[in-house]
Amino acid sequence: MPQVATEIFHEAFRALRPRTPAPEIEVEFRPYADINNFIRVREGRLVVGLSDMLEGAPRSVLEAIAFILIAKLYRKPVPKQHQHRYRQFLNRRSVRRQTQAVRRARGRKWLDSPQGTQFHLEEIFDDLNQRHFEGRLERPRLSWSRTAARALLGHYDSVHNAIIVSKIFDRPDVPRFLVEYLLYHEMLHIKHPVVHQRSRRCFHSTEFRKEEKRFPRFQDAKRLLNAL
Ligand SMILES: [Zn+2]
Repeated sequence: MPQVATEIFHEAFRALRPRTPAPEIEVEFRPYADINNFIRVREGRLVVGLSDMLEGAPRSVLEAIAFILIAKLYRKPVPKQHQHRYRQFLNRRSVRRQTQAVRRARGRKWLDSPQGTQFHLEEIFDDLNQRHFEGRLERPRLSWSRTAARALLGHYDSVHNAIIVSKIFDRPDVPRFLVEYLLYHEMLHIKHPVVHQRSRRCFHSTEFRKEEKRFPRFQDAKRLLNAL
C-alpha cells in the first residue's frame, strides 16, 4: 500500500511541478488520533505522513490528498476538484463514524478541571443555562485547557461532549462577562449541532450568529477579544 501511495505522490508532483525533477518520496501511514496528514522536506526528500484511516481509501482520494499536500507545500493553488473530492470523502457517513470512533479511542486526555483559579466553568455554565437557555441544555464536561493556548479560545468537542476554554482567560484581570461570552458561544454549538451540507461543514449558521448577538455584552466581549 505505501508503494501505491508513493507512486501517486510522484504523479502528483510531476503534474504540479513538471520542470522540477521529483525528489525521493517517502509515504507512511500512521495511527494519528484524527485524520491528519502532513508533508515536509527532510534532507532533500519529501516525507509524507498519512492517517492510517486512509489506508483503505480509494485511489482517487489518495490522489486528491497528494495534490492538496504538494500544492500546499509549494504554495500553489490547490486544484478545486481535488479539494472537493477529499471533502466529499471526509463527509461520508462511514468515514465520519470511523473518525469519531478512532478519536474516542485514541484521543488524548486533554481534559483538566472546570475549577480554575478565578472562575468555575460549571457554575458559569449553569448560570448561563438558566438565563439564556431556560435550563434546557444538558451540561457537558467542562474544562480549562491544560496549556495556555492562544489559538483556540474555546472549543466544543461533540465527540467527547466537552467544552474546553483556554486557560489564558482564567486570570484576575479578565472580566467575568468575557468568560461568560466564550462559554455562551460554545453552548450555542450544543444547541445548534453542526449541519453537514453536501460536502461543506457549516459551523456558524445565520441562526447561530443571530442568537450569539443576544448575549448582553456581545460587542464589549468582541472588542476585548480583538484587543487580545
Ligand atoms: Zn464557534
